[in-house]
Amino acid sequence: MTPSKDSYEVIIVGGGVSGLSAAKTLADSGIQDVLVLEREQTCGGVPRHISNTGFGLVEFHRPMPGPEYARRMRHRIGGVELATGFQVTKLLPQGTLETAGPQGVVTLQAKRIILSTGTFESGRHNRLVSGARPFGVMTYGELARYVHFAKMRPFKRAVIVGTEWVSFAAIHTLRKNGVEPVCMLGEYSRTIAPEIIALAHEKIFRTHTYRGVCLSSILGANRVEGVEVEREGKTQVIPCDGVVFTGKFRPESHLVRRSHLDFDPFSGGPVTDQHQRLSDPTYFACGNVLRPVEPSWTCFREGVKAALFVKMSLADTLPAITGSVPVRFLDPVRFVWPQRLAFPLQPEQKLSLMVSLRRPTRGILRLKVDGRDAWIKPINAMPEQLIKIIPKKLTLDRAEDIEIFCDET
Ligand SMILES: Cc1cc2nc3c(=O)[nH]c(=O)nc-3n(C[C@H](O)[C@H](O)[C@H](O)COP(=O)(O)OP(=O)(O)OC[C@H]3O[C@@H](n4cnc5c(N)ncnc54)[C@H](O)[C@@H]3O)c2cc1C
Repeated sequence: MTPSKDSYEVIIVGGGVSGLSAAKTLADSGIQDVLVLEREQTCGGVPRHISNTGFGLVEFHRPMPGPEYARRMRHRIGGVELATGFQVTKLLPQGTLETAGPQGVVTLQAKRIILSTGTFESGRHNRLVSGARPFGVMTYGELARYVHFAKMRPFKRAVIVGTEWVSFAAIHTLRKNGVEPVCMLGEYSRTIAPEIIALAHEKIFRTHTYRGVCLSSILGANRVEGVEVEREGKTQVIPCDGVVFTGKFRPESHLVRRSHLDFDPFSGGPVTDQHQRLSDPTYFACGNVLRPVEPSWTCFREGVKAALFVKMSLADTLPAITGSVPVRFLDPVRFVWPQRLAFPLQPEQKLSLMVSLRRPTRGILRLKVDGRDAWIKPINAMPEQLIKIIPKKLTLDRAEDIEIFCDET
């Protein structure tokens, strides 16, 4: 489907969970001149091919598989204009987008643009795993696409790399498709998802989790024949014919990197303020492009919020982004989102910040505003987890210095 014209009030880049949620909210709030651009032939984003029933409980009040969730999301946007098979290739100033579609390159214009391009998992290249290049190595997202769309079984016995929630979901996808999960490999001394999840999977499904291991090499010429791991100074070979890399999500933000917009190398996403607004105030963002990584219901809500912020921006009722204050942080904090706060803080707006850590950390996490504690919490957290900071009574006209740090114990 091709856009019916070349100028819109709002264009949404990415028709996944958060993009469709923003589209619906805009339509409901009276902004009808909206276009959703989606590079795939069908909207719905990642859930389209994730068959586990981890979707919909908050938004539709019952758990459902990803494909059903994606279908419902598509149906609820009603008459909003969609252009599928359209990939946005450049973000330009003054609300201009360059896109590549069936008719070639098309330039589009909008008063406001919402980015909702999602996230991707780190595969072997991002994790710098050496060895040969045999068939049978993929991320969980790729595996899910493979079994859902191609209905093929890529291997019979696979090792799962990672211990996040999504890593345990991979066990079920493998088993459902007749693949034996050989074991799970975690780099830290404990799992990133709660330990109880790993223990339950060991007991019920007999899938053992090796903790504190480093995957050093993938073995095999044409097909995977095993993996080499290092544990407590010893090298061990685990035979298998498949390797599934799970988690370590990174925002799908190459468009931002190559544009005039400020990019945050720590989160891997765009720099935004608490209104999900980028350094060029024509642009907003929602969902996992903002930072890795949130479940679908949070992205759904962020889509709603982005639409409401866009509406406020069109009505010129958001505080100016010029003069916004950066949120500073110190090691072991890896990133903070949002990266900037625009003042004055609206009294009715519940401010929340997300923090991710570089390494497993125990200590006291603090938010200081102009030298005074605004929020304190003891933490015992793992990397890849997001810690939410909701400071109370932070209704300020202005602050000069905002800092987040952790006193490690
Ligand atoms: C493997 C996996 C398993 C998961 N399991 C669960 C689960 O069980 N429960 C749960 O709640 N959450 C789960 N999630 C998370 C959930 O899928 C996400 O929270 C949600 O999909 C994020 O929504 P989003 O809008 O940010 O991105 P997405 O839903 O991924 O949508 C992004 C969309 O943008 C499009 N796009 C990207 N770049 C462009 C471009 N340049 N031009 C045009 N279109 C573009 C993409 O094609 C895609 O459709 C899982 C995620 C993964 C990867």
